[in-house]
Order: sequence, then structure tokens, then C-alpha cells
Amino acid sequence: MNTLPNLVGLELGEIQTLLGADQPKFRAQQVYDAVYRLRVPDLGRITNLPKPLRERLQSETALGLPEIELAYDSTDGTRRYLLRLSDGKTVEAVWMPETARATVCISTQVGCPVNCGFCLTALLGLERNLNAGEIAGQVLRVASDRGFTPNVDRLNIVMMGQGEPLLNLANVLKATRLLTDPKGIAISPRRITVSTSGIVPKIEELGRAPEESRPRLAISLNASTEEQRRELMPITRKYHLKDLLEACRAYPLRPWEKLSFEYVLLGGVNDTDADARRVAKMLANLNVKVNVIALNPGPGIPYRTPEPERVAAFQAIVRKSLPCFLRKPRGLDVYAACGQLKRMELVTVSNPR
Ligand code: SAH
Ligand code: SF4
Repeated sequence: MNTLPNLVGLELGEIQTLLGADQPKFRAQQVYDAVYRLRVPDLGRITNLPKPLRERLQSETALGLPEIELAYDSTDGTRRYLLRLSDGKTVEAVWMPETARATVCISTQVGCPVNCGFCLTALLGLERNLNAGEIAGQVLRVASDRGFTPNVDRLNIVMMGQGEPLLNLANVLKATRLLTDPKGIAISPRRITVSTSGIVPKIEELGRAPEESRPRLAISLNASTEEQRRELMPITRKYHLKDLLEACRAYPLRPWEKLSFEYVLLGGVNDTDADARRVAKMLANLNVKVNVIALNPGPGIPYRTPEPERVAAFQAIVRKSLPCFLRKPRGLDVYAACGQLKRMELVTVSNPR
């Protein structure tokens, strides 16, 4: 366990405070630059610092990137990481390469308190929130493992791993400030998406965040009526579907932006033609696109995956009035797909590290 203060996660002013008032301002800038823009692998590599300061940093602080405890490779190129944090707890991140770009899915909490009936992460409960360095650090660790330069190679980030991002909004926003800072990691906010189960007051708060560092927003809808949603996502008892849709209507989109709605199809539960028609009607007046995904199964999940024909029929109905895409599962064979992140230890892995 590492108990030294971590540098990853600190903003410029915080680095300045850490270095102390006797250090000139530009020293903090040099450290910030080394950590986020140059992404040095260890503190000894910040060679433009005077030796005594470098040695002080090395003995009194840690860089603080999460460590790769295990990585599982899927036959489709997806890699699921089990990352170890400073206190020994672990979370998952998933790397999904495509032809000319890649997406990294990161966690925002250890476990999740929201308890959706179709999601394996729910079975963990909430262990704790991640801090900003642990959130941004997953991106840095995975990108460096894959030889990717976040702002040059086309890297998309989705906060769809373990956790409910809007129940940890302050840390999520600090992480996106670090990820988007043009002087640091410099990823465009257009490439970062936060997904929520519908924490209404936090959607409003997210809408007030500065545009230059605000991530895109995806809403996990997953039901076509208030009653059905209450069954599948108990959070609906606290934040009603009606109010969620109202918050979406009031959400201040940037000119290039649409809201995304995610919809997990559960066989025989929320996947009928009537459901599809209700979804299309419900979202008709919003600037949205819809992503449907067939349930990824897992031990203890009391739902079934619908047939491909049912999925196609649902999509076809929604697509008559809204942009609607089918999300293919990635990394199913290594429990890396949506809703499967439960730190599953695999006995028969193809190539663990
Ligand atoms: N907690 C946030 C983000 C993490 S979940 C949220 O719920 O939005 C990311 C996405 O995975 C959500 O859209 C969720 O509805 C979906 N999901 C959860 N369990 C799933 C499963 N078993 N199969 C497919 N998608 C699932
Ligand atoms: Fe939490 Fe999202 Fe899973 Fe629901 S779907 S339990 S909010 S991680």
C-alpha cells in the first residue's frame, strides 16, 4: 500500500501548494507538464528539475498511476484490465481498439450503489468513490500500456465502467478538467462521455460545468414506462422518469452535441414493439441518439438476451423517428462487456499477465 501523496490527480495550484511557497511558480508548471503532457513513467525522469527538488519529490510523493494487476485479452482485441489503486482496492478498465481509433471504458467508483437488476457491478455494492487521479489515471495507464498518445491518436473515453459517475460528480469533473486541459493531456471534451442511471439534480449540476471541460452525457434509459423502469432500476423511485426527461429537456447542449440514450434489451421484458414505439414517442422532442444493446448475460442476472431478430425489430421501429444504433458487445469472452464488470477472476484465460 502506498501512503505517499499522489501527483496524478493534482491540478497546477495543488502542485504549487505541495512544492511549498519557497519554490518559484514555474517549478509547479514543470512538474504539471512532466506528469500530464510528457507523461513521465517515474519521477526520476523529470530531468529539468534541480536534483534536490527531484529527490524530494521521489521520496515524499508518488506518481500514483494505478498498477496493472491483471489483463485479459478477448479474441476480438478487447483487453480488460484489473487495476490496483494506492489502497490496494481494484477497479476495471476496458480497452476497445477499432481500425483508426480506440475507446477506453473507465470506472468512477469501486463497485456501484445503484443496484440495477441486470448489471453485475451492482452485486459489488459501493466500496468507495474514486478520486480524480484514479479516474484520469486509468486513461493514462491504459494508453501507455497500449502505446497510445491520447491527444494524437484518436482516443475516446467512456465513463461506463464500475460505478455511477454522477454520484461522484466533483471527482469526475476534476478528472475531465485534467483530461481536457490543453496544456496537459489535451483530449477534446467531445471524446469523453459520462453515462448515468439518472441522478436528476446532478444532471443539472453537470449542465452548469464549464463547456470546455464538460463531457458528453449519456442516459441509461432501459425502460419504456415509469413502472417498468422502477422494476429494473430502483433508482427511479427516487428520481422519476418524468423528472429525468424534464432534466434532459432543460440540459444545455453545445451546438455540436446530442444526448445519448442507452437501452439494454431484456428478452420478454422491455423489448417488444410496443416498448420501441413508446421509447420513440418519449424521446421525440429531444435532440438525441439512441444506442440499443442486447443484454450481456452473467451469473446471477435473472434476465435473458433477446434473439437478434427481436433486437433488429426494436431498432427498426425506433429508427423510424430517431437515430438509433446497435451496440455490439465487446470482450464477452473475458467478462469485459457492458454490465459485466465485477472483477471476475477467470480460471481459463487465454493469456493473463
Ligand atoms: N452507472 C452508469 C455507467 C455504468 S453502466 C450507468 O448506469 O449509466 C454502463 C452501461 O451498461 C449502462 O448504460 C447500463 O445500462 C449498461 N448495462 C448494465 N448492465 C448491462 C448488461 N448486463 N448488458 C448490457 N448492458 C448493460
Ligand atoms: Fe450501477 Fe450503472 Fe450497473 Fe446500474 S447499470 S448498477 S448504475 S453500474
